[in-house]
Amino acid sequence: MIDFHTHLDLYPNALEILPKVNELNQFTLAVTTSPRAWIATSKVFSNYSNIRVALGLHPEIADAKRDETELFLDCIAKTKFIGEIGIDGSPRFARTVSLQESIFEQIIRTSARNGGKILSVHTRGATSKVLSILERFPAAGTVILHWFSGSVKELEKAIALGCWFSIGPSMINSNTGKLLSEKMPINRILPESDGPFSSRNNKPIMPWEAISITEELSRVWKVPKSEANDTICNNYWQFMEINNLV
Ligand code: MN
Repeated sequence: MIDFHTHLDLYPNALEILPKVNELNQFTLAVTTSPRAWIATSKVFSNYSNIRVALGLHPEIADAKRDETELFLDCIAKTKFIGEIGIDGSPRFARTVSLQESIFEQIIRTSARNGGKILSVHTRGATSKVLSILERFPAAGTVILHWFSGSVKELEKAIALGCWFSIGPSMINSNTGKLLSEKMPINRILPESDGPFSSRNNKPIMPWEAISITEELSRVWKVPKSEANDTICNNYWQFMEINNLV
């Protein structure tokens, strides 16, 4: 099993499920919401070789964590994985969009200066803003757009920029998500749970359940489920190879 975007530190029973996640998943990218959380979580998760912790500053809390921007930039040199970062332009967070943009741009610029990183990026309601910053810093690294919800035109631009896409059960089970997935290059899709914030039947989606997207993907791609599984598995190995992680 594989999960490229989970808030593993925020599950109510995080410490209890860690060994199980490490055992069932060959790879889990645990994104964080602030650099302080990244420092603390990295310590606790360091014994689990299949779990990587990404340095994050969630755009929804940009205002509350703005004082941690410098700390974030200082930490970039120490990690290969960055996320969750990005911009949220939905009405609730519109007030802080220019702050979010400024933080995001500084992170992307610094990632480019540090040889490029693997970045898990949030784009809700702000896809064009995110893409135009990414376009200016092609050396920023390998970008995975998490739960992409932009327009088809924005999707085309993201594809042209070389972005990857992480898709979760909630996204693939929505009509928009299905339509967008259909237009994504099949070799640039990875699974994500986005748990514990994403849930099914009132239960948070677990990191080992992210792979269940292959059920719906097999319908989207009109192939048997085993083939959809193989594709996602190949994508994972391809991703690891391109990024020198194997
Ligand atoms: Mn998330």
